[in-house]
Amino acid sequence: MSQAEVSRMKPPLVPLATLIGRELRNEKVEKPFVKFGQAALAKKGEDYFLVKPDCQRVPGNPATTFSVFAIFDGHNGISAAIFAKENLLSNVLSAIPQGISREEWLQALPRALVAGFVKTDIEFQQRGETSGTTVTFVVIDGWTVTVASVGDSRCILDTQGGVVSLLTVDHRLEENAEERERVTASGGEVGRLNVFGGNEVGPLRCWPGGLCLSRSIGDTDVGEFIVPIPHVKQVKLSNAGGRLIIASDGIWDALSSAVAAKSCRGLPADLAAKLVVKEALRSRGLKDDTTCLVVDIIPCDHPVLPPTPRKKQNVFSSLLFGKRSQNSTNKTTNKLSVVGVVEELFEEGSAMLAERLGKDFPMNTNSGIFKCAVCQVDQPPSEGLTVNSGPFFSPASKPWEGPFLCTNCRKKKDAMEGKRPSRPTVTT
Ligand SMILES: [Zn+2]
Repeated sequence: MSQAEVSRMKPPLVPLATLIGRELRNEKVEKPFVKFGQAALAKKGEDYFLVKPDCQRVPGNPATTFSVFAIFDGHNGISAAIFAKENLLSNVLSAIPQGISREEWLQALPRALVAGFVKTDIEFQQRGETSGTTVTFVVIDGWTVTVASVGDSRCILDTQGGVVSLLTVDHRLEENAEERERVTASGGEVGRLNVFGGNEVGPLRCWPGGLCLSRSIGDTDVGEFIVPIPHVKQVKLSNAGGRLIIASDGIWDALSSAVAAKSCRGLPADLAAKLVVKEALRSRGLKDDTTCLVVDIIPCDHPVLPPTPRKKQNVFSSLLFGKRSQNSTNKTTNKLSVVGVVEELFEEGSAMLAERLGKDFPMNTNSGIFKCAVCQVDQPPSEGLTVNSGPFFSPASKPWEGPFLCTNCRKKKDAMEGKRPSRPTVTT
């Protein structure tokens, strides 16, 4: 790669530096409080969640504390949800270079989330089990919130002004035309269940497998076109803070984002989570596992005040959100605009690994050893497939323009793009 190419690939995230600089100048260096609550009702017992309020970027340094909250909604069993809960965080963190500044860490996070999700999926597949899971994974560092998601669990943001926005994209075949196209192009078929002499019932599913989701971790038996590559969105809240509601589809099938946010405003996080679950149950009954995490990001000088929006803006935001929901068949309309005081730092949802990992991944070429950009394993280049070599490519496909991948991860990448039979070989 030439020097010119390297410099062209610098991530377009300069505004973050400006923001952090501004924060320092305004002496707004103190971190917000993070308060959280959780509530759940089990129907099948396949929902799992993760709460880690005191992770550290630099181990042993409490000034580098960040929080992680996640929901895993399993299907066809619980093993993928449990495996993701136990391994995903460390897989993400291992993909972030050591010894970098907070600003660099936040910039590296979206790519590390992609690597961590794919690595976790590969490791789970190697166990030869067949379940799958959605993942909605939230990292909070100061006022910066980064959300990575596959599947249809959702994370919404309710800000001080009463504006409710969606930080995730629903990876449901029924509602996501772009994902239907991708799955079909990668060798899957999309259609409804046929029963009673050809009558089609239920939501759109992919075949083989019959899954309603287009992305997940696990689902080894479905097909590699169901990819673990997450939609990632990073926003920076204003110093007024905000509330996150992270929940499985048991909530979202019963409540719109606006209704869920409104139903618990003014309550502390623990009560808010209980109330959202109760509200979902009241409107729909217990039809599915229902799990809800409420996380309040609160300025230090208002330690006990959850968001209390003004009435007028409430009405406006409900209307705005309602309109957006109606258009949810088109993924682009799910895109969050910069609402009120929330600044959008990063958003990317492509299922193509090359687009997500970028070309400027550190290669550590001095030692003659290459580090795989997904699983972080060191491998001499002769053992792996390096840039522009690829026996799996079809004539129509573009050469690999991403960073170094080990043999294993390269195979995974090709499989996800439909360049080898969709049914993966399970090694146990
Ligand atoms: Zn690898």
